[in-house]
Amino acid sequence: MSTQTTLDSQFTGELIRPDDPGYDEARQIFNGAIDKRPALIARCATPGDVQAALAHAREQELAVAVRGGGHSTAGYCSCDGGLVIDTGPMKNIEIDAEARTGRFGAGLTWGEFDAATQEHGLAVTGGRVTHTGIAGLTLGSGSGWIDRKLGATCESLISAQVVTADGRVLRASADENPELFWGLKGGGGNFGVVTEFEFRLHPIGPIVYAGMIMHPRSAAPELMRFYRDFVEQAPDEVGGGLALLTAPPEEFVPEEARGKPATGLIVVYAGDPREGEEVLRPLVEWGEPLVKMVQPMPYVAVQQMIDAGNPWGISEYLKVDYLRELPDEAIDTAVALAAEPQSPFTQIIFAPLGGALDRTDRDAMALNLPESKWFYFYLAMWQDPALAEHETACARAFMEAMRPWTHYQAPPNFIGADEGAARLRASYGDEKFARLVALKDEYDPDNVFALNQNIPPTVPTG
Ligand SMILES: Cc1cc2nc3c(=O)[nH]c(=O)nc-3n(C[C@H](O)[C@H](O)[C@H](O)COP(=O)(O)OP(=O)(O)OC[C@H]3O[C@@H](n4cnc5c(N)ncnc54)[C@H](O)[C@@H]3O)c2cc1C
Repeated sequence: MSTQTTLDSQFTGELIRPDDPGYDEARQIFNGAIDKRPALIARCATPGDVQAALAHAREQELAVAVRGGGHSTAGYCSCDGGLVIDTGPMKNIEIDAEARTGRFGAGLTWGEFDAATQEHGLAVTGGRVTHTGIAGLTLGSGSGWIDRKLGATCESLISAQVVTADGRVLRASADENPELFWGLKGGGGNFGVVTEFEFRLHPIGPIVYAGMIMHPRSAAPELMRFYRDFVEQAPDEVGGGLALLTAPPEEFVPEEARGKPATGLIVVYAGDPREGEEVLRPLVEWGEPLVKMVQPMPYVAVQQMIDAGNPWGISEYLKVDYLRELPDEAIDTAVALAAEPQSPFTQIIFAPLGGALDRTDRDAMALNLPESKWFYFYLAMWQDPALAEHETACARAFMEAMRPWTHYQAPPNFIGADEGAARLRASYGDEKFARLVALKDEYDPDNVFALNQNIPPTVPTG
């Protein structure tokens, strides 16, 4: 029997090939600038499906891409001519509200995860856009609006079920395969296909004091200074971020401000809403905003707040870096460069660190969080292909201009395919990188999982 027939007979999920009607939809990823055509998309429903798909790839010598929510900016979740192992159908949810733990299928998005956990007033740090996958984000970055309160997402991980390159199904936790567990917390998709995550859940919401404020761009230099000084002294419960963006053409924005450069604030208080109102008052009452929508609201609504500005299928290019600090000169440089992009979708988000992130046990995970007060996401996004070159150049120029204040480090998810192995290595630091290479040698010596921010194995192959 050919391996294709074997695969077809064993597989319980869905196998999609280029001639199948659902192919074009199934191969689409978030980043519309990337258009790859895999030979086969294996939409896996069980760990057994992942095992069968991996065996097929080995037999057929197909490159393997692994997909959760499809949000990889670099497009690592797909490939040309290879096999995509899509864990999207794995959406099981099992919550023990009393114990504050839960098991979650690797195919869930943050929107689905938050909806389920919020029924019990529980959460972990989740992605800022609801259609981001829990899998890729947990394994390779894990920041969110409330990470000053709850730390990075992987810090709440209790265990993971993993299918390794040689087809074993393992559980990784502090007690079982602890080194693999360490590596999954920040080492990305290098060590296997995760089919299920078990999280420790934390009481948040379901109602929090939160919202969005928008000022004209002319207020940015002063507002950023005020915001910096306010957040750096604020309790862990204060989360959110500041964005240099274009005011959207939405009804809640005054007509004369729509489409004009603006400065946005997302504010969230991850604690008692009444207390939040008091603590956030100076920020909420600052200046003369164009838009002020801050009130007690469902945490799930906070998590949807920037969805409209990040539509599925938009083209994007990302630059991210940790800032040692945010001095006035860095603010003025950022504000000046924020005038350069032409696409109304491009935005620069400054996210405060500190709080729980300062107290993180840095040795307990592969993710390398530097001693840092801020980080920026430069999200170049465009719908008109004619803007691609300009928006990309603006993002690169921004990164260069900010270098005097940055660590030149980022979580692996934010390191682009064009940034090279050196930046990945620098982001982990020599010690963690060496430990990750040793893990790769143990779990994936043939580099089956190569389409990612890759940790190269050292052992000879074949
Ligand atoms: C608009 C936007 C907003 C974002 N916001 C945030 C944010 O707030 N916080 C943050 O931390 N990050 C954020 N990110 C980055 C995000 O963490 C990464 O893009 C992440 O990879 C998304 O996970 P995914 O499952 O959707 O990715 P996918 O593209 O499906 O996968 C990316 C990679 O993760 C690995 N992977 C995915 N699924 C599995 C699996 N089941 N087993 C093993 N490996 C797997 C693979 O290596 C794969 O190539 C954002 C990205 C975008 C585009």
